[in-house]
Amino acid sequence: MNIILLGPPGAGKGTQAQRLVEERNMVQLSTGDMLRAARTSGTEMGNMVAGVMDRGELVTDEIVIGLIREQLEADNGADGYIFDGFPRTLAQADALGNLLLEMGENLDCVIELQVNDEVLVERIVGRAKDAAAAGEPVRADDNEESLKIRLMAYYKQTSPLIGYYYANDDLKSVDGLASMDEVAASISDALA
Ligand code: AMP
Repeated sequence: MNIILLGPPGAGKGTQAQRLVEERNMVQLSTGDMLRAARTSGTEMGNMVAGVMDRGELVTDEIVIGLIREQLEADNGADGYIFDGFPRTLAQADALGNLLLEMGENLDCVIELQVNDEVLVERIVGRAKDAAAAGEPVRADDNEESLKIRLMAYYKQTSPLIGYYYANDDLKSVDGLASMDEVAASISDALA
């Protein structure tokens, strides 16, 4: 089974993806994690995207599609993929559809995590404070200014995917404001 977790920054995509990995032997493909790894290891691409990411803007379709293609081409014995933070544009959604088609795979479900902006800002600012208090590194894009740009990028470039997948009959919407366990249960119901 291949699924997409769709939702604005801070909606809980990463947390829910982790749970699905543990419960269902699926593989999480997070383009945000891949890009951060490229930055940490100081690759040319990593250096190139650093400023764009820190500002909260989207990196180019070409780069993220390339990252996803590489992962899908590596046979990792997954019982399906959870796409987390990808696709984020209509071009990426088309590319993913084509990649899956080439592999003889389907997209089984797109789960939209619905939340509101106020809660997102609280969650993300809270995440940054918790990390700082624990002496952990704080994401450079977890500040209010970048967050505003990340939210706008979501509404402008990513939210049209809700209509795109709704029209393809793949979309299930879940209340992302419920507790983590309740959200996980709603996702399980949506996938049943
Ligand atoms: P995330 O961890 O998913 O919030 O991603 C962090 C940042 O990485 C985003 O704000 C973008 O700058 C970049 N990024 C991650 N995934 C994508 C994507 N699919 N398309 C474009 N940029 C992305």
